[in-house]
Amino acid sequence: MSDQLTRRHFLHTVLTGVAGLGLTSQFPRDALAAGEAWKAGLARAIITPQKSLWMAGYASRKKPSEGTVQELYAKALALEDYAGKRAVLVTSDLLGLPASVSHNIAERVEKQHHLERDQLLLSSSHTHCGPVIGEMLRIMYPMNSQQWADVEAYTSELEDKVVSLVGTALKSLRPARLGFGHGDAGFAMNRRARTKDEVAIGVNKDGPVDHDVPVLRVDDKHGKLRAVVFGYACHNTTARDFLQFNGDYAGYAQAWLEKRYPGAVALFIAGCGGDANPYPRGTIELAQQHGEELAAAVEKVLVGELQPIHGPLKTTCGEFPLAFATPPGREELQAQLENNDVYHHNWAEAMLKILNRDGHLPTEYPYPLEIWQFSQDLTLIALGGEVVVDYDLRLKKELGARKLWVAAYCNDVFAYIPSLRVLREGGYEGGGAMVYYGQPGPFAPTVEETIIGKVHDLMR
Ligand SMILES: [Zn+2]
Repeated sequence: MSDQLTRRHFLHTVLTGVAGLGLTSQFPRDALAAGEAWKAGLARAIITPQKSLWMAGYASRKKPSEGTVQELYAKALALEDYAGKRAVLVTSDLLGLPASVSHNIAERVEKQHHLERDQLLLSSSHTHCGPVIGEMLRIMYPMNSQQWADVEAYTSELEDKVVSLVGTALKSLRPARLGFGHGDAGFAMNRRARTKDEVAIGVNKDGPVDHDVPVLRVDDKHGKLRAVVFGYACHNTTARDFLQFNGDYAGYAQAWLEKRYPGAVALFIAGCGGDANPYPRGTIELAQQHGEELAAAVEKVLVGELQPIHGPLKTTCGEFPLAFATPPGREELQAQLENNDVYHHNWAEAMLKILNRDGHLPTEYPYPLEIWQFSQDLTLIALGGEVVVDYDLRLKKELGARKLWVAAYCNDVFAYIPSLRVLREGGYEGGGAMVYYGQPGPFAPTVEETIIGKVHDLMR
């Protein structure tokens, strides 16, 4: 290509804007029509702790892990669109990554692999049979100092593994095509059960859920499956407070798909299942059963007709303040020190420590939001925290469900994110869990409008 031609092409691209209109002439139309002109790279690493560690997600466990029934994985899917724009999705069989861990990983990924923060998406399955990460839910666990030191060492190794995983995925980029579709699986059940005068965790057959199973298919240029990314909006809590590491239903679904499609990588993204539990639940066999049901739903989509996904890929992310309700005062906290409930006692102690250090409690939390737009074909909205299903249902109503994927537990897991309805009803997801998360109190009633408003802002 002569210099003159290159220059003319450059000007043409600039003049026609970034929407990709100027670039389509570079590629055969039929290639673009088939969702090709992508590159994809994949990597996976076992992240099962090598020794016994405290397990995350339940206050009821009184001792650390006792072995492994299924390996835990971190997996990475690197994508590059026709214009050379790159982004990497990381999924993990973990309860969640707190902000400190995500920030460490993102900083190192930027230095070593030259990806900006919005080109990296860190998600977790929210399995309750993985290790404690960082200081997440510190108040929940009766751990001694050696056990905390072991978790710290594990967390640091995990950060190393994820950073190198991103590099491996980027190194394996090769031509690919993408397709998207939806399936459904029926085991997610709303868990906010109304008793006489409160909302408690139980089974609410009339409560809202979303049984949608979004599926992204990644093929090589010959049409062979290289990866499948799928989602579901439900807690990974089938096995309850089991003491052996496993990925719960999401782990079993991924394993089933990888066995069914040798050489392909299956990646799970948790949806807005903050207020959903698997039904029925209580044993590892049920986790396997739900995993197989979910995998079968994914396979049904894989063999059906998929919507081709085109570039360009646009990524954006940011943090914005999410306001807490008026925090408790010193007197109230001091009174809570007398609370017989050890968690309320520990929480009050932690809050008083902050109060003494800073002179006040935090009035807001920096909420992470990341959005990946695959041209007009698919929008992936990645929300932080344990988001309840109302957000997912509302966004699908406002933006259209067909080309939308609403993910939660992304980039930072630091609290439940109640809708205004759930906040008003109260219960664990409405504000009760804030004690375990070490937050000063429930969110302000602006929580839902703030998040939904920001999603619309970023999409514009
Ligand atoms: Zn949870």
